[in-house]
Amino acid sequence: MRKKIIAGNWKMNLSYSEAEQLVAGIAKVAQPENNEIVIFSPSIYLKTLLDEFGASVKIGAQNGYPQDQGAFTGEVSILQLKQIGVKHLLIGHSERRELFHETNALLKEKVTKAVELGFTIYFCCGEQLSQRELNQHFSVIEEQLNESLFHIEKHQFEQIVIAYEPVWAIGTGKTASSSQAEEMHQFIRSQISRRYDENIAQNTSILYGGSCNPTNAVELFSQVNIDGGLIGGASLSLTDFIAIAEV
Ligand code: PEP
Repeated sequence: MRKKIIAGNWKMNLSYSEAEQLVAGIAKVAQPENNEIVIFSPSIYLKTLLDEFGASVKIGAQNGYPQDQGAFTGEVSILQLKQIGVKHLLIGHSERRELFHETNALLKEKVTKAVELGFTIYFCCGEQLSQRELNQHFSVIEEQLNESLFHIEKHQFEQIVIAYEPVWAIGTGKTASSSQAEEMHQFIRSQISRRYDENIAQNTSILYGGSCNPTNAVELFSQVNIDGGLIGGASLSLTDFIAIAEV
């Protein structure tokens, strides 16, 4: 049975004391057995949040660099994340792709390293509005999966969670309709089945991300192929985030 995952992407938000309060609040709320909550925190807070709350809340990193060490000023390596106890890693968020020019080739290197080091990877994919308008959304997602993710071995795919995040829905207040999202999730699952097998496809959690809130999550999460959400803005509010987790 696939897990329902509610992941919060805090991006570059919150003071440390706000972050601590938010995780403390999440830790207090019991989750049903098949529910999983993960928080992707700014890297500077990871060690202390893990020390304080790591036993009750999964804390992950928003980014990591594939080289283990060297002259990469400002970067934190995936190995360094592992050494402080991080086990969950977001790869391929559209803000990394757009603002920091991360290519499919670089994302492939990150996936390879993170899989090798035993991380659970939350691999983000999504199309731009112009690509959807040109009816290219399926081919864009197919390319992102083929070029950055589908090189890993079959037995490694259990380390993968996929987040479908249409770029035009991130932080804009525009959500994909439940049928648009379901259609894409179904497509992604069929691609996993084609590349690996149907069993792997059925066991992979595919999350929706893009302006999710406690209201629209009800219909989105009721779709057969939507296994939870990657939540940006609404993950900064304890009330909203918990309400989404309880949908
Ligand atoms: C995100 O950053 O992954 C995201 C989905 O953001 P928002 O929920 O704010 O659209």
